[in-house]
Amino acid sequence: MTTPSLDDLAALGREFRAGGTDLMSRTVPSREYADLSGTPELTGIEWSADGSARIGALTTVAEIAEDALIRAAYPALAGTAAGLATPQVRAAGTVGGNLLQRNRCAYFRNPAFSCHQDGGDSCPARAGTMLNPTVIESGPCLAPHPSSLAMALIGYDATAEVRGRGAVPVRDLYGDDPGADHLLAPGEILVGVGLPVPVPGERAAYHRAIGRAEAEWPLVEATARVVVEGDRITLAAVAVGGVARTPLRLPEVEAALLAGEPLDRAAALAADRCSPSPDAAYKVALLTGTVLEVLERCLDD
Ligand SMILES: Cc1cc2nc3c(=O)[nH]c(=O)nc-3n(C[C@H](O)[C@H](O)[C@H](O)COP(=O)(O)OP(=O)(O)OC[C@H]3O[C@@H](n4cnc5c(N)ncnc54)[C@H](O)[C@@H]3O)c2cc1C
Repeated sequence: MTTPSLDDLAALGREFRAGGTDLMSRTVPSREYADLSGTPELTGIEWSADGSARIGALTTVAEIAEDALIRAAYPALAGTAAGLATPQVRAAGTVGGNLLQRNRCAYFRNPAFSCHQDGGDSCPARAGTMLNPTVIESGPCLAPHPSSLAMALIGYDATAEVRGRGAVPVRDLYGDDPGADHLLAPGEILVGVGLPVPVPGERAAYHRAIGRAEAEWPLVEATARVVVEGDRITLAAVAVGGVARTPLRLPEVEAALLAGEPLDRAAALAADRCSPSPDAAYKVALLTGTVLEVLERCLDD
């Protein structure tokens, strides 16, 4: 059987099955998706002469976690990949599927409820119970963005290669649209992600606050990338997930680090944007604590 071309796949205008770990959990019928497996344009990790990497969308999360070159060049990305989900999910789940997975809100995933995400006009979580809602106001939907790899890639200012559009910043895959977890139209294909030239001497860390040891999405997660020259921080990139409708950079924390503020004062600035509901108030301390944790891990010597 011949592998369909990207044009053929895109023309179907459907969802895609990559590793299937998210799609199958939503019980999407087979007539409503197209299979991406084996599509050659979407596979492999390529390295340019300048040392930068391009990661095909069908690369698995486990490959990212285990690839020695990725671990050396992009330690915050590899650490995030190694820390998410379970060995089975990492082995099957792909970079593309991770970036474009749907959120985990129990109301969205329960067909008995309608919400912004499936064409409705309300968020049942607001009147109901949600243990892990957003804590940074980002529109009427309370479901935090689920992708850990998106957070890590935003921390690297990575680009997404979208068929027909070329390279766009990974952060532009997302917005505060309460009806969508990403902004790709049906049939649009993420071909791969591009990373910048690795930074020599980068120190990096990933940490998640989680309700159980594994097999769960985090309550809050963060990556930090730091370069230290002498007694000064000369590069700071801090990204967080689990707190808003999109993964976020924290420019206020980064600026404080570059200005030489103590780590705890810089981390505390992460709370400034929070406007939690009573259900989410506990996450503010988790956010500042998680940010402080990644900063201390980067700078513990
Ligand atoms: C117990 C458990 C714990 C988990 N914990 C975490 C966690 O902590 N952090 C985290 O980030 N994830 C977590 N996950 C989610 C998991 O990482 C994702 O399900 C997985 O990465 C999705 O990849 P996939 O290839 O299986 O996607 P699929 O299920 O195949 O696809 C998912 C979606 O992506 C779209 N898609 C896939 N590839 C492309 C492409 N190339 N172009 C356009 N659209 C595409 C599909 O249309 C579909 O809508 C967890 C999952 C489980 C089961």
